Amino acid sequence: MRKHLRLLALSPMLAVAGLAGAAMLAPAAPAHSQSLGDIMGSAKKVLQAATVSDQQIVAYFGQMSDQMDQQNPLAPASNAYAVRLAKLTRGLDRYDGLTLDIRAYLVDEVNAFAMGDGTVRVYSGLMDAMTDDEVRCVIGHEIGHVKLEHGQKRLKRALQQDAALSIAGTASGDVRQLANSQLGGLLQNVMHAQHSQSAETASDDYALTFMAANGYNQQGCPSAMDKLAALGGGGGIALLQTHPNPAARAKRMRKQIG
Ligand SMILES: [Zn+2]
Repeated sequence: MRKHLRLLALSPMLAVAGLAGAAMLAPAAPAHSQSLGDIMGSAKKVLQAATVSDQQIVAYFGQMSDQMDQQNPLAPASNAYAVRLAKLTRGLDRYDGLTLDIRAYLVDEVNAFAMGDGTVRVYSGLMDAMTDDEVRCVIGHEIGHVKLEHGQKRLKRALQQDAALSIAGTASGDVRQLANSQLGGLLQNVMHAQHSQSAETASDDYALTFMAANGYNQQGCPSAMDKLAALGGGGGIALLQTHPNPAARAKRMRKQIG
């Protein structure tokens, strides 16, 4: 099993161009307009991506995690957001095989993400909008994407679409580091896109289990959805650009909680 993989949560929801990544994943051209060389090249890329090692995947996600921390201001330990986040996740050092590193970004966006190495980042804008249990539910949902390996599937798809990444991913033996330009493209592909409805539903279910397992109030989940729905009127909410209708998700979760 791939317990130690650093997988990116699937629902990374950067506010920018939410659908750009999805568009980039679409086939570039219909087959009839491709030369034989193009088709052979595509087939080769798919083959290479299929053989990318778990070790290489770990390295890519580690690089993306570091890149995100370089691009966004982490709240220092004494900052009010850091203090609150540490308090509301106290005792949550490990969950479902992951050692968690939960920290806040001082970024005014309603956003959060998790990586398979246990990196969890919650944006200060989300913390302003949500109660402790609502924040916990979002964290559980993001961990769900990681543990259900949605991010790994997205990464492999991205590798299939990019020759440079495919080649980098097939270095046998030692792990290759990506150039910054390549990393930018990968982040674009992996982070700025929506997950499938079924993946989101599975992560919502995971979040409800996460809440119960840690003694948190499960009502924080539908309540978080209500908040998102209310915020949605103004537009520009990162979590809404990458996620399905929050009202429908709230209704479904309330039924599950009973
Ligand atoms: Zn999600």
